[in-house]
Amino acid sequence: MIIVIKNNPDKKQMDNLVKWIKGLGLDIHMSKGDNTTIMGLIGDTSVVDEDLIRSLDIVESVKRIQEPYKNANRKFHPEDTIVNVDGHLFGGGHFQLIAGPCSVESEEQVIAVAKAVKAAGATVLRGGAFKPRTSPYAFQGLREEGLRILSVAKHEVGMPVITEIMDIKHLPLFEDVDIIQVGARNMQNFELLKELGKTRKPILLKRGMAATIEEWLMSAEYIMSEGNMDVILCERGIRTFEPYTRNTLDLSAIPVLKELTHLPILVDPSHASGLARLVLPLSLASVGAGADGLEIEVHNDPVHALCDGAQSLRPEQFEDLVRRIDVMLPVVGKERDK
Ligand code: PEP
Ligand code: MN
Repeated sequence: MIIVIKNNPDKKQMDNLVKWIKGLGLDIHMSKGDNTTIMGLIGDTSVVDEDLIRSLDIVESVKRIQEPYKNANRKFHPEDTIVNVDGHLFGGGHFQLIAGPCSVESEEQVIAVAKAVKAAGATVLRGGAFKPRTSPYAFQGLREEGLRILSVAKHEVGMPVITEIMDIKHLPLFEDVDIIQVGARNMQNFELLKELGKTRKPILLKRGMAATIEEWLMSAEYIMSEGNMDVILCERGIRTFEPYTRNTLDLSAIPVLKELTHLPILVDPSHASGLARLVLPLSLASVGAGADGLEIEVHNDPVHALCDGAQSLRPEQFEDLVRRIDVMLPVVGKERDK
C-alpha cells in the first residue's frame, strides 16, 4: 500500500500516522521528494483500513498495490484449488455439471429429475429446500421436508447434493448435504459466512446481485479465514440497466477470477438469464470463458414448476446441452467428470 502525504504535513499528525502503522506490525519505506512524501507500507496490509487513512488531513491519496484477500489470492497459492465432493473434483481442469430443479417439490419429482440429469451427465443434484423468494407470499420451499427428500434422492439415485442455506440455525439439518450453497442474497451475510467457515463442508458461494469481484472474493475470504478452504465460486449474473434478461451474465468475471484466485469457478446460466432458451448459448459461452462447471435448473414439467419454471430446462434439453458442451471442452483443455 502506498500513502501519498500532502505538502508540509503537520509533524504531530505525521508522527501519529507512522506510530499507528508500525503498531499494526508493518514497516514503512519513506521516500521524501521536494513536494511530496510517499510512504510505502511493507507487510500484511490486509489489516489496514484504507478509507480511514484516506480521511486523514495530511493524506493526499492511498493506493493499494496488493489485494485485501490473502487465502483466496492466487499470488499466495499459484496452484488451482481442487475441491473434492464425494470423489468429484471441482477445479484443476475438471469440469462438473450440477443440475436439478430450482425447488424440491416432491419425492417423485426430485427422484425423476435426479435420474434424468444423472443419465445425461450431471454429477451433483441441486434442489432448493429453503427458498429466498422476493415475495413472502410466493412458495418458500419445503424446508426440513425438502432436505429429507433431497437426502432420499441422494441415496436412491446415488449422487451428492447441493442446497442453499439461508440461516445458520438450520445448519444441523444440513448433515447429509454435500455442498452448502450460499445464495446471491446472502453473499455478504458475514455472520453466516464465518460460521460456514468453521464447517468442513464445501461451500458454493454465489455472486451477490450487485457485488464487485473484489467484494465477492472478500466474502470467500470470510469463509476461508475461519479454516474452510473448500470454496467454489458461482457467477449467476449481476443486476444491470438491461431488463430483457433476469440478470446480466458477467462472462468476463470468469477469466478475471482465473487470474485473481485459485478457487474453482462455476456459472449458473439459469438465474443469469431467467429464460430457458438462453441457457444453452450462455453455457457454451461460459465453457469458452474458462468455467470449471455449470449449475443448471432442470425440471420434468417446467410449466407447472413451483419456482423458476421459465428458466428451467426439460431433461432432454439438458441432455442436448451436455452433448454440445462435450464438443467444446477439448478446446479449453478440460475434461468432464463422469
Ligand atoms: C438458486 O440457485 O436457487 C438461487 C436462488 O440462486 P441465486 O442465489 O443465484 O439467486
Ligand atoms: Mn431458481
